[in-house]
Amino acid sequence: MTAAAHVNSWYAASAAPIDGFPRLEGDLQADVCIVGGGFTGLSSAIHLRERGYSVALLEARRVAWGASGRNGGHCSTGQRADQEDLEQRVGREQARRLWDLGLEAVRMVTGLVERFNIDCELKTGDLHVAAKRSHVDDLRAYTDKLRDDYDYREARFVEREELEQMTSSRRYHAGVFDAGGRHLHPLKYALGLARAARDLGADIYEDSRVTGYTEGEQVIVRTDRGSVKARFMILACNGYLEHLSRPLAGKIMPINNYVLATEPLGEERARRLIRDDCAMSDSLFVINYWKLSQDRRLLFGGGESYSRRFPSNIQDLVRRRMLQVYPELEPARIDYAWGGTLAITMSRMPHFGRLSGNVFYAHGYSGHGITIASLAGKLLAEAISGTAERFDVMASVPTPTFPGGTLLRWPGLVLAMSWHAMLDRIGH
Ligand SMILES: Cc1cc2nc3c(=O)[nH]c(=O)nc-3n(C[C@H](O)[C@H](O)[C@H](O)COP(=O)(O)OP(=O)(O)OC[C@H]3O[C@@H](n4cnc5c(N)ncnc54)[C@H](O)[C@@H]3O)c2cc1C
Repeated sequence: MTAAAHVNSWYAASAAPIDGFPRLEGDLQADVCIVGGGFTGLSSAIHLRERGYSVALLEARRVAWGASGRNGGHCSTGQRADQEDLEQRVGREQARRLWDLGLEAVRMVTGLVERFNIDCELKTGDLHVAAKRSHVDDLRAYTDKLRDDYDYREARFVEREELEQMTSSRRYHAGVFDAGGRHLHPLKYALGLARAARDLGADIYEDSRVTGYTEGEQVIVRTDRGSVKARFMILACNGYLEHLSRPLAGKIMPINNYVLATEPLGEERARRLIRDDCAMSDSLFVINYWKLSQDRRLLFGGGESYSRRFPSNIQDLVRRRMLQVYPELEPARIDYAWGGTLAITMSRMPHFGRLSGNVFYAHGYSGHGITIASLAGKLLAEAISGTAERFDVMASVPTPTFPGGTLLRWPGLVLAMSWHAMLDRIGH
């Protein structure tokens, strides 16, 4: 049985538990060894098993213990970076491929949910709102661009008057409603993926932290109590990679983000906050994001920190932000507040690639990981089985190294992030 529990969150309180997986004891062999049991690792396991590879997945704690079991649950369309930015960086043709992969990623999540019958409260709609007057024209122009250049017609601009019908918050100036976006209960989704991987024959081990590996024709992956010898290895540790791979550490920065769950608010009160039961987020640099739970709590996320430890007052930190959006929630009790760690890149695009011919990685989703990490598993399986074209589209986006090289949480970057957070506060 396993040592670690899932973080004390509304998700953990409302998801049906899954039987624990054994700890790795002794030495074994597999075609592919996957390190990390979040969306990236679990989706890889599913897609590799479907292609007939034997899979050993090693998770340091419990499956979905990391960001995958703690996040906001928003499945937005496209990539984390916007298309204008991508066109400039990789050209129009490649930007188009990335956009298409972003759409495929949302379809993939809904496809996995249907195929494996995962009860994870999957719902439709994503409303992104302008926190500053100066953001309104950008949102409008971007919606037009997606329609004109990408033939994307699911997103529509929402004027302030209409927005006021859609939410009781008076903080926002306009919005974009994307009917192509989805939202879900992330821990239920992740545990559903784990069950599917297990049923397809993947060998999953919990409480099995990988302490190191040796590259070669066969990669040897070691834990304290055993090892896996494999033809291929996938590093799927994202914000929890730590020192496992020094060449990769400089490409991603771990940051912490926080979520709270109010008490159940009742249908009427909940629908005043979000009329259409969609996911909502705003345009601040340190983004606020929120949605309703099945039992009509508000799940509100926001606030960041960059050190290893979480602050002791997560609830206060997030509640303050929530009350700026919905002052009427002042009397609402907060039942849960928790944090998680994700990885960002300098480019805000994920970092996909190979360390050598047979060691693959995908991480750095920069807060856009439900869809893209799920897709990553499929692209990794394609690449391992010899069709790397689509994996290479993702891998072709340049990922600059953080100044400071492989030092994690570089102090200069922390300063820069704090500067942007301050601009949010003073309204620039
Ligand atoms: C608070 C919060 C809110 C977020 N909101 C959203 C959102 O609304 N929408 C969205 O798309 N994305 C969101 N994200 C990001 C999203 O959750 C992540 O991008 C995604 O879960 C990454 O999945 P993963 O499998 O790559 O990593 P993780 O789920 O973090 O999994 C990595 C796993 O690797 C394991 N591991 C690490 N080192 C080792 C080792 N040495 N040996 C064995 N195992 C190891 C860890 O224990 C962990 O379980 C949010 C993240 C956070 C933290």
